[in-house]
Amino acid sequence: MNPQHDIQSLQDYLRKTLLDPVRPGQLAISGSDGELTWSELSVAVTGWMERYHASAPHPDAPVVLYGHQQTEFAVAIYSCLLYGITYIPVDCIYPTERLKEICALAHAPYYYDVLQRTFVHTGVAAKPLQESHLAYMMFTSGSTGQPKGVQIGRESVWNFIQWVGESFSLPDAPVLMNHAVFSFDLSLIPLLANLAKNGHIVLNSKEAIATESWLESLHLKKVSAWISTPSFAYQKLLSPQFNSEFLPDLAVFVFIGEVLNKALVKQLRRRFPNAKIMNSYGPTEATVATTVVEITDEMMASESDLLPIGTMMPHSFMDITPEGELIIWGKNVMRGYLGLPEENATKLLTRAGTPWRGYRTGDLGFSKDYLYCMGRNDSQIKLNGYRIEISEIEARLLNMDGIHEAVVLPLMKPGGSVLRIAAFCVSHLSTEEIKQGLAKVVPSYMVPSQILLKDVLPLNPNGKIDRKLLDAQARVS
Ligand code: AMP
Repeated sequence: MNPQHDIQSLQDYLRKTLLDPVRPGQLAISGSDGELTWSELSVAVTGWMERYHASAPHPDAPVVLYGHQQTEFAVAIYSCLLYGITYIPVDCIYPTERLKEICALAHAPYYYDVLQRTFVHTGVAAKPLQESHLAYMMFTSGSTGQPKGVQIGRESVWNFIQWVGESFSLPDAPVLMNHAVFSFDLSLIPLLANLAKNGHIVLNSKEAIATESWLESLHLKKVSAWISTPSFAYQKLLSPQFNSEFLPDLAVFVFIGEVLNKALVKQLRRRFPNAKIMNSYGPTEATVATTVVEITDEMMASESDLLPIGTMMPHSFMDITPEGELIIWGKNVMRGYLGLPEENATKLLTRAGTPWRGYRTGDLGFSKDYLYCMGRNDSQIKLNGYRIEISEIEARLLNMDGIHEAVVLPLMKPGGSVLRIAAFCVSHLSTEEIKQGLAKVVPSYMVPSQILLKDVLPLNPNGKIDRKLLDAQARVS
């Protein structure tokens, strides 16, 4: 492993791809604010970098990018990658409090308001990053009650670009459907595959996805690769137009972010008999994805309900502890959480005499013909593809004036996925006041859809909060 060599290779590759594109007249990005061809993208990335240096000149500090599915957002990301500026993507679905919090935690003196196309002074003093050659920082839900900044090096991005171009069964010059917000690293699959395969990324805003004509727009754009969480695809099955007659170019589905179950694969096979279905797995801490596999008929015919997550990407390997925890080793592992030495000490591993970095995923799994993932060993859940620490919601509730006690439970469906989140509070506040207070500090998908007020929280015979009873109460009320 030679990080310097990888960093240089990434630099050379991006320069060639973005500044001397092979398909100059073809579309490169479509977003909510318009489209750009590859040659227009070349001009745009250079222009963005010049504006950055003129307006927000702190090259050692990260810059926060704030917007939602605009072409300009992708331009800013590509420009940061090309010119070595560490960026932090934050989507507008986050309340402005969270934006402020992230700017403060990252010591980011500016954020780029994508909609207004201006750099905004945050009032936070710039502090140079300790890590050099960081590509980006992604803030995920943190169990301590504050978001955690995952720092990804440029060597990891180079490793990922090469792999995604070769191993995800993407067609040449793919038209890539992206639904994920840029602050969710799933979006880096289509963003970086676009660079690896000289494709066209189609960015879909929340508003656009909610319209009846959304599938029509994918049809017109000739979308050929669908990248999403399984939950997102499930929702789309409700539309009868979601089939290969209406979307004849759709050749591959890539799923990541949560368990892919056989029921979804079966339905997709009926609707899209010729499309490939890929299952990919990986935490943000190991650069987007670490394993991938094409789901075959043989896998579908096996007795087990569990589908494999695949095999490891190059330059990485998986260790499985005797307790079954998956440990990822390799170039793709993060450089660490920003400013959280204790968390890094428990989650990050090193191997004496080697430059390898290891990451304890908290996922349980095993290896047979392929690798398999069976769920978590902590309070992290996935709801509609979003990663949520239940303990962060609890910590936020307990921080609110007027709440004395709070317990948050994910209510599970029989198949193991999350139905909804319920919170139980001992408080004189109303449920609406609690929801509104919470919505100021966490994204809307983390606000429990059900809040139940209690005089006291029930205890089980061991003196612990009786979560089983609370679960049952939430289901009937
Ligand atoms: P995130 O950091 O938001 O990408 O979430 C990473 C977590 O999502 C992993 O640690 C797993 O718990 C879960 N996950 C991601 N992909 C899969 C998959 N294909 N199958 C099962 N769980 C997955």
